Amino acid sequence: MSHVMGRMMRVLGKRSCEDVVAVLQEYFEGSLEPRLAKIIERHLKDCPDCEAFARTYATVIKLTGELPVEHIPDELRMRVRRALRERFAPE
Ligand SMILES: [Zn+2]
Repeated sequence: MSHVMGRMMRVLGKRSCEDVVAVLQEYFEGSLEPRLAKIIERHLKDCPDCEAFARTYATVIKLTGELPVEHIPDELRMRVRRALRERFAPE
C-alpha cells in the first residue's frame, strides 16, 4: 500500500468521523477545498452514521436557513481543518 493510500484509508476509516463532522459546515457552504469535499463525500457514502448526521444537518439548514454552527466550536473546526490539510499536503 502506498503512503498516499495509507493516508486515504486513515481518513476514510471510522476514526475520521469526527473530522468529517467538524468540516460539514464548510462542506455545505461550499467553501471546503474540492479535494477535501471529495473526501467528505466518499466518507458519507461509506459511513451511515455520518450520512445520517449530514442529512440532519442539511435539513436543519433548510428549515432554519442557518447553519447549526453552535454544534461545532470554531476552534475544533479550525483544528480539524488544519489537520486534514496537513495530511493531504503535497510532499
Ligand atoms: Zn463517519
